[in-house]
Amino acid sequence: MTPEPNPSPSPISAASQGLASCHVCGKVSPVTVGHCPRCDTPLHLRKPQSLERTWAFLIAAVILYIPANTMPIMTVQGIGGAEKNTILSGVVRFWEMKSYPVAIVIFTASVLIPLLKVIALVWLCLAARGRSQTAPRSLSRLYHITELLGRWSMVDVFVVAILVCLVQLGAIMTITPGPAALCFSAVVILTMFSAMSFDPRLIWDRHHEKPNPSSSLPSLPTNE
Ligand SMILES: [Zn+2]
Repeated sequence: MTPEPNPSPSPISAASQGLASCHVCGKVSPVTVGHCPRCDTPLHLRKPQSLERTWAFLIAAVILYIPANTMPIMTVQGIGGAEKNTILSGVVRFWEMKSYPVAIVIFTASVLIPLLKVIALVWLCLAARGRSQTAPRSLSRLYHITELLGRWSMVDVFVVAILVCLVQLGAIMTITPGPAALCFSAVVILTMFSAMSFDPRLIWDRHHEKPNPSSSLPSLPTNE
């Protein structure tokens, strides 16, 4: 009796064949060459110290998230004197002024998205270390959403810029950015670096490393 053919053969990774894709131009070459033949970038099977870098940027972002939310992000100079607002008190103020769309945009872009990004990256790092049972396909999707949000985080910077212009035009009150604006920009940039440092292939490596009778893939070197 002939054995049943495996309906879904395990995919063979490039890394298991000693092939590395260049981090800069994407050209696939044998890792033994050392440098990309096209652009001379050092070749690695996986981004070197990917998780360590991701954690470092993430921890820095979390630390700066505290002053970004507790220090004043803007000073509103009106007829009744100067008023300092944090992100949340600003949201409350816009809500009270019945500027609901502005309040919702600021809350989503400045509080919710950075927080969700940090949670997603922590989850991905834990999964790459084998601390989560989530399916690799879902984790991959989570990573792509996080990366996409990284690009859209620049919305926050535009929101602040547009807001300042709009209010200055009104000539009734002036808004000047406070120290939290700087911390907040740093949070956005650090979470972007964190997402860029993460190597999503680590999730699949972890998946293939699991003892699986139908697969006979060699275990992969995770670094250089
Ligand atoms: Zn290259």
